[in-house]
Amino acid sequence: MATEKQVTFVIVGGGIAGVTCAEQIASQFPSDEVCLLTASSLVKMVTNFKQVSKTLEEFDVEEQPSRFLEEKYPNLKVIQSAVSLLRAKEHLLQTENGQTFYYKKLCLCSGARPKLLTQDNPHVLGIRDTDSAQEFQKRLSKAKRIVVVGNGGIALELVYEVQGCQVIWAIKDKAIGNTFFDAGAAQFLIPSLESDKKDRSLPCKRARYTTDKTGAGHSGASGELGSALGPDWHGGIDLRGAQQNSSGVHTEYECEVEKIYTQQEFLQSKRSTEKFELGIWPVYVQLTNGKIYGCDFIVSATGVVPNTDPFLHGNNIELAADHGLVVDDHMRTSEQDVYAAGDVCTAGWEPRAHWQQMRLWTQARQMGWYAARCMAADVLEEPIELDFCFELFTHITKFFNYKVVLLGKFNAQGLGQDYELLLRCTKGQEYVKVVLTGGRMMGAILIGDTDLEETFENLILNQMDLSRYGEELLDPNIDIEDYFD
Ligand code: FAD
Repeated sequence: MATEKQVTFVIVGGGIAGVTCAEQIASQFPSDEVCLLTASSLVKMVTNFKQVSKTLEEFDVEEQPSRFLEEKYPNLKVIQSAVSLLRAKEHLLQTENGQTFYYKKLCLCSGARPKLLTQDNPHVLGIRDTDSAQEFQKRLSKAKRIVVVGNGGIALELVYEVQGCQVIWAIKDKAIGNTFFDAGAAQFLIPSLESDKKDRSLPCKRARYTTDKTGAGHSGASGELGSALGPDWHGGIDLRGAQQNSSGVHTEYECEVEKIYTQQEFLQSKRSTEKFELGIWPVYVQLTNGKIYGCDFIVSATGVVPNTDPFLHGNNIELAADHGLVVDDHMRTSEQDVYAAGDVCTAGWEPRAHWQQMRLWTQARQMGWYAARCMAADVLEEPIELDFCFELFTHITKFFNYKVVLLGKFNAQGLGQDYELLLRCTKGQEYVKVVLTGGRMMGAILIGDTDLEETFENLILNQMDLSRYGEELLDPNIDIEDYFD
């Protein structure tokens, strides 16, 4: 039944950004109604939040039924229905189930979806939410060979975790993990990839990441709009293929997918003479380096596209080159009273010297929280400054069972030729890289249990001139913490 409702604050999206924003605004305005509209039946809640240092943070994430939120905040109502239309001039939103909402302030936190190599090919999968991860697992259990395309965090984890199935990994860069590391760090990690997968103890990225075990955790009516998985998304699922033995990873560097053939297309193509060599497979991938591989299916892990479709038609919303909603330093889009946070948005402000946007869990939480504070400041007509969390990029994660800490311009992003590197590497134990400009620390990559993160965070933030320390900065015999106390 069509209904209409006036609400002070409306937030769209039940992922980390939307839920954090809704919680913050609901607690700051307890006598105003707050509505969270989400396509997914479960919401993602941050628990056990811990500020590890000035900018490094850790937290657990729990997927919960929406009533948990409503019980915690009596003025917060969660409506499970996808938003199908925004008319920003009228401050109006419509949902797929026919409800209309008039808002005073709106925050869009609708996340992003995988950028697929091709749409509607049943042999090409993307991994985004609980449903797609389960579909992946089902298909993998019958697979002997898969092709993974992409070089970001999801691809890195996949190729490491999959067992009992040969993985052909196609990357466009010269080194693995280009989004997160340089070639040196990649070299450090490669032996882990080549080690016998059976010998690995399965790593856990975070102390706890829980999902609903009842099977209720499926996308909403619109089917494809669940929230993004995050750290340890593979923790509860068995990533095992149909082969008895681990069949290894073969990496094809500096190439992209040129063409995908169905079995029938391939057998009818000029390349069918190769079929005896290649064997009969459900799908074939031709790479730009000329090689062709048959496989059971292809995983497209080539990045994400922000979910903006319902918000664009008839509105004056500025989009960035990566198709995100451009936001200013108050998380405002180009439409009045419409804010955005998390994977759906693109930071349009001049970033601080050591920060860059990456579509990651921590930034989704920080942006959701800051967007709520900005909406509140606007309502109360109070000034607000860009939050301190945007001073320095920090990310803690685990790759190939190593702790990985990324700080600031860890890959010398945007520094041109104007930088020097200091390196320390102990095979199988740790890899430390420091990026310096004019003797000042701009960023660092710390792999392994280096214990250097807090000291380096301080050195980046305070921009102390380190020229006189030279290579001593990474001398393992010097207790660097004492040094800079
Ligand atoms: P999402 O979590 O995607 O939430 C979007 C919400 O909007 C969902 O609830 C969805 O249902 C809803 N929605 C969408 N469209 C509509 C609509 N029209 N109407 C109503 N609701 C709508 N990050 C890390 O930091 N570390 C990792 O190790 C890591 N691993 C990852 C592994 C995988 C497989 C994936 C997919 C992502 C990973 N990420 C990781 C990224 C991280 O999960 C995302 O950056 C983060 O979850 C984004 O949060 P969000 O709230 O912006 O969006």
